[in-house]
Amino acid sequence: MNQRMYGLGSRRSVIREIFEYGKARAAKVGAENVYDFSLGNPSVAPPQAVEDTIAQLLQGKDMTALHGYTSAPGDMETREAIAAHIRTCFGFAAADAGHIYMTCGAAASLTISLSAICNAGDEVLTFAPYFTEYKVFAETAGARLTALPSDPASFQPDLSALEAALSPKTAAVLVNSPNNPSGVVYGRETVKKLAALLAQKEREFGRTIYLISDEPYRELVYGGVEVPYLPAYYKDTLVCYSYSKSLSLPGERIGYIFVSPQAADADALYLAVCGAGRALGYVCAPSLFQKVVARCQGMTGDVSVYEKNRNTLLSALTEYGFSCVRPDGAFYLFVRSPEPDANAFCERAKQYDLLLVPGDDFGCAGYVRIAYCVSPAMIARSLPAFQKLAKSYGL
Ligand code: PLP
Repeated sequence: MNQRMYGLGSRRSVIREIFEYGKARAAKVGAENVYDFSLGNPSVAPPQAVEDTIAQLLQGKDMTALHGYTSAPGDMETREAIAAHIRTCFGFAAADAGHIYMTCGAAASLTISLSAICNAGDEVLTFAPYFTEYKVFAETAGARLTALPSDPASFQPDLSALEAALSPKTAAVLVNSPNNPSGVVYGRETVKKLAALLAQKEREFGRTIYLISDEPYRELVYGGVEVPYLPAYYKDTLVCYSYSKSLSLPGERIGYIFVSPQAADADALYLAVCGAGRALGYVCAPSLFQKVVARCQGMTGDVSVYEKNRNTLLSALTEYGFSCVRPDGAFYLFVRSPEPDANAFCERAKQYDLLLVPGDDFGCAGYVRIAYCVSPAMIARSLPAFQKLAKSYGL
């Protein structure tokens, strides 16, 4: 058998490990007494329009078409609706259906994009902390993932580290804003500098460096913070989008890739995206949910619940003596561990039935991730446990 695949299948991710522990613990002490902050599974319901659209579609006449294969890149009606949304919402007039490819969520968007871009031996650069699966996805595409530091005071990307790391082997730079796990949003100035640096290096090396924007949390921002639309700043951009978080549909596996028509070799790259989807065996994205998202563009679940959770947790943890960069988006806090070993900190947190994820797997030792996409009631119940945990460290 393939030993790499065996290795991936036989080692459960740390997050899954903690989640399983939480279920076993809940069976013992009661679910209401376990504060599981391990998984990024949305806790707010999809907007009512999603349920209504599903009901309407199921009342249609042609169930064979509804559940049948769509064309490989996706239903034209869906791709048109997405292109129109990109044009009106982000003012990106060049968006067209011919450069949108429907996928089974951001994970598929990323594996397909990386496979479309990379050749064996290429390098993909990203910034730590980063989504744990990036390494797996890049290696599946035959590339090597190198994680660069972020500024620890802000978790904004360290662009001088990027400048030093970019080389003729760099095929792509992969960014994620709003970020999992830091919650940080890259501001306009940062994006402009990043774009200028990549354009300069493209000229210097005489090769295209694609920017992959992984943005499943685009709409999950608080206090009116802007999330710059990267294709408007850098021409060689691919957007990897997902409805998992915005519409609370992670189990339905639906998202898309948008290859900017302004990118170098855009038409050929789009065909490479189609080829990668084919090679990876995706066939097409789920038919029913392609039709659902076509009718629910621009909608979200009740994001105010996450904002409330962020505010409650951030102010309580800060008051108890923990430190954390203020997150403007997504639904995670990335908290500094009061002891150097975040794994030891997570073990101690377990004694108070607080289930947190060590930052090591996100490429950032010494931190823990708290996924606050849980009910506000659970957040309130968990606060005394956080306070005891802080006291146990003398904070
Ligand atoms: N990228 C990031 C940063 C994520 O946090 C996630 C999921 O949590 C994904 C990609 C994968 O998303 P999806 O469930 O849409 O495949």
